[in-house]
Parts: sequence; C-alpha cells; structure tokens
Amino acid sequence: MDKSQVIQILEEFATLLELKSENPFKVRAFQNAARALETHAQDLKSLIESGELEKIKGIGKGISHVIHELYEKGFSQDHKDLRKGFPDSLFDLFRVQGLGAKRIKVLYDKLHIRSLGELEYACKENRLLKLDGFGTKSQENILKGIEYLKKSSGKSLLSSARQESAKLIAYLEKQKGISRIEIAGSLRRSKEIIGDIDILVSAADPVKIHTAFIKYPEVESVLAHGETKSSVALKSGMNCDLRTVTEKEFPFALQYFTGSKEHNVVVRGLAKDKGFKLNEYGMSKGTRLIPCKDEAEIYSKLGLNAIPPEVRENTGEIEWVAKNPFPKLIEEKDIRGIFHVHSDESDGNASLEAMIERAQELGYEYIGISDHSQSAGYAHGLDSARVKDQWKRIDALQKKFKIRIFKGIESDILGDGALDYPEEILKGFDFVIGSIHSKFNLPENEQTRRVIRAIENPYLAFVGHPTGRLLLGREGFHLDMEAVLNAAKENQVVMELNANPHRLDLDWRFCRLAKEKGVKLSINPDAHSLAGLEDVTYGVGIARKGWLERKDVVNTLSATEMEKYLTGRK
Ligand SMILES: [Zn+2]
Ligand SMILES: [Zn+2]
Repeated sequence: MDKSQVIQILEEFATLLELKSENPFKVRAFQNAARALETHAQDLKSLIESGELEKIKGIGKGISHVIHELYEKGFSQDHKDLRKGFPDSLFDLFRVQGLGAKRIKVLYDKLHIRSLGELEYACKENRLLKLDGFGTKSQENILKGIEYLKKSSGKSLLSSARQESAKLIAYLEKQKGISRIEIAGSLRRSKEIIGDIDILVSAADPVKIHTAFIKYPEVESVLAHGETKSSVALKSGMNCDLRTVTEKEFPFALQYFTGSKEHNVVVRGLAKDKGFKLNEYGMSKGTRLIPCKDEAEIYSKLGLNAIPPEVRENTGEIEWVAKNPFPKLIEEKDIRGIFHVHSDESDGNASLEAMIERAQELGYEYIGISDHSQSAGYAHGLDSARVKDQWKRIDALQKKFKIRIFKGIESDILGDGALDYPEEILKGFDFVIGSIHSKFNLPENEQTRRVIRAIENPYLAFVGHPTGRLLLGREGFHLDMEAVLNAAKENQVVMELNANPHRLDLDWRFCRLAKEKGVKLSINPDAHSLAGLEDVTYGVGIARKGWLERKDVVNTLSATEMEKYLTGRK
C-alpha cells in the first residue's frame, strides 16, 4: 500500500470507531495520524525503513503497528475486524460527495441508514430535514450525489432512465431527416431497474445523426463513434447507445433490441421451425426477403398475435399469443383517482390543500389522503386527536374542491399485526392502508402471519408497499406471498402497487400472481410532494409488465363507484 491508501484506511478506521461510539480519544488519534502522515513530506517506504515513522508526532505505537501491517501485508487485521461489524453497503455512503464520517454517523444512528438506496429514500421522504446539521440544501445535494453514483454504477431507477431518455429523444428529434425513433431495451420493457439507454433511429443520413448524438450537451464523454452505432456516457452518469438502421430494418432491429434475450431466443427458434431466418436486420425464407412494416407484422408472420413490449420476458407471453390475442393492458388514462398521499401533517412537504388542488389539476376524480399513523414517530405520525382534527379540515376543503376527497391513513402494521388505532378511530376512515415500517427482519412465517392478521382486520382496505423493498437499497422482507395473496382474496383486501420509483412494490412478477388469484390491485403514488403525485406513470408501466388490465386495478373506478366500493367493504 502506498501513502495515500494508508491515509484513507486510517481515516476509515477513525470513522468506524466513531460509528461504534468508541472512545473519542481513540477516534482522534487515528484522525491525527492520518493528518500527520498527509502533511509529512517523506514517502511511506523511507519513513518505515528509516524508522522515522515512530518519531512523527501523533503516531503512537498502536497506530504505527497498523501502518506497518498495511505497508507490508496490504491490510490491517484490526481494520478488517472492525469493518465486519457493518454492512458493506454502508461504505458506499462515503462515496457521496460531501458526506463525511460525522454526518454518516448521524444518519446511521438516528435513521438507521445503511445503504445508498435507504439514504436516497430517506431524502425523498424528507427525513433528513429534522436532523442536526442537515437542511433542505444538504438534503438536495446528497440526492444529487447519490443519483450520480448510482447511474455511474450502471443501474438506474426506471424514473431516472425515463426522464433522461425523454430529454435526449427531444433533442434528437430536432435533427432533420429522422423518420423513426424509438427507445429499445429494458427501458421499453419497463423494467424496474435500467442499465443503459438504447435508442434506435432510422434516418436518411445516419452519419449526421451520430454526429449530433455525440454533440448532445449532456454528454460527458464519447465511448464510441461509428456510422451505425455510437455510445456516450452522460453527465448524469448513465450510458446511452444509439443505433441507426435503414427504414426496412427498423422493425426487426426494434424487435431485436427490445429483447428480452430470453424472449428473443424463443421467437427466433419459432421462426426457424417455420423455415424463416430472423435477426436484427430482417427476415427471410431461402433467398426471399420477407418485409414487415412493424413488429406486429413480424409476430404475425410467425403465427403469433402482437405482444406488448413490457411483457416480453418469456414468462408465458409467447404461448399465450399463439392461441389468443394479448389482453388489453391498463393505460395511464384509465386511472381515475389516487390513494396513498401524504401531506406535511406527517412527512410530506406540501399542505393538504396543495396536494388536493394538484390532484384535481391532474384530472383525477378522487384523492385518498393517508398520512402516517401514531406509531410512526419518525414521520410525525398522527395521534387520534390530530386525526379527528384532520377530518374536520378535510370536510371544510371538500366544500372548496370538486375532486372527491377520501379520508384515510397509512397505518403502521404493528409487530403483532394489529393496526395503529382503536376501533373508534378506525371506523371513521373511508379507507385504511396497512404498511410495515418496522421489524423488517422477522422470519418468513412470523412476518407472513403479521401481514395476514392485518389483512383479516375488517377495517383494512389496502396493503401498502407489500414487501417493503427499496430498489437498489433494501431487499423486501421475507413473506410467503402466495399465502398473503390468498388472505387478501378471502378478505377482499386490495394489494397496493406502490408507484414510487424506489419501490414499485408489488413487484410485477407478483402482480401477475395476484391477478391469477383474482386479487385486486391499486396503483398508488405514495406521494410526499406535489411532483410525487405524478409517479403513477411508473406504476402503470409495472402494472403493464405484470399483465394487468383495467379491471384488475381498483382505482380505475369512477368516484361514485369507488365510494360505493369503499362503503360496501365496511
Ligand atoms: Zn409507507
Ligand atoms: Zn406512504
């Protein structure tokens, strides 16, 4: 190890000791040693060989031993042992611009944040604002830092990839001579996590398009520049590939580059069985080319009905369209109202009135307000008195707005599966969402029992973010989803498809299972800000991926139907 690596380990050592709340003198000793080494002109090799090291003020016997070990073996046993006490993901936090040991310790101690994903989520839920040494500005900066790290690690949330690609497409569309332009790859399939952005273009003069592409102002560096394919790294950290093809090739290339690989393997095999050759450039039989104007025609030549891009995962869609047309999947315009909306009375950042007004502007017929319940102290949850007070204010607001306002709550599901209020309060809500916000690590059978007990509570209408996962941040808790869905069916409880791009929970794989069992879903934004109301779009993408149709999703009901539905449950 060289000097700068050793300094880094000494600093990390200090941080680890601090995280463990060790003796502050010991912490400072490591910090001082790192600083002393940094300011000393001599290199490490000569310091050690000349015995100078031990003479430097601030480097005592213990630390000098650590430095020797690092220099000779490349690691220190004490450092290794110390590190073992923390999850690896915690160390990612140190890579966030401007986050030092002190603040990481606050986040770790106060909010139990152990990974970038958890930190990002905490920022989005405004959890940092109340912490000592943090504020709106630093929360924003942390978010920016995280966004950058995540994207450069090659993994982005669906939301970032969509926003990023929309800007790029708008820029490319301004170039002359483009006849078709489409996003392909996992983004077109609406995967919850996206790698690179793939863009496909057919144009009269592809060379010009590639030149324009690498000159896009958001490009950080050009990774490849060709006449049919170029790749760039964007300033945001994401990578983007552009492919240009001829007009005739376009549908074949779009089908091919949309994937998934697993889907394409089966499709190509099917083509082969029928005597066709199919690849990204075209389809042929012997020497005869088979032109197709779009993807639907390609599938139809193979004896298949059209397949929406989102479901191309080889999970039964090909078998399905061999016999039947694919069901008409849900669309954004089908969503007529929204549930799971927070205001600044718990951990949202906009007022009740502002959230309601915005939902009305967005054209929704109803909005279901659900702040956090009393046990959610971290989120300023509402006790019974504050709930009753909110009801009064909602009644007053209802006179002002056309949009139907439903009174609800996001009730913590307590450790034993109970809801967070006495019956007297529970019965006053129009709907109750039950969510788990604590004890994530219960064994599967206990966690399952806990959720099912909540489902059996007659006041529960929805199960909120059913697995608690945070994409790129935290695994979901262990649940027997089959059993949970069976209980939901039996008790007429709706499973939430949480549309927050960090969650997208229920996962699309389970959405399909829910649908097969006849369990209804609700696409809920879990909004904590005005902008958060618009997350519904990501939920719809995942719902489509999970084969959901309009009839599978309750918030496609009209306000009157919804009112009847909710009162009918009581
Ligand atoms: Zn929640
Ligand atoms: Zn929530």
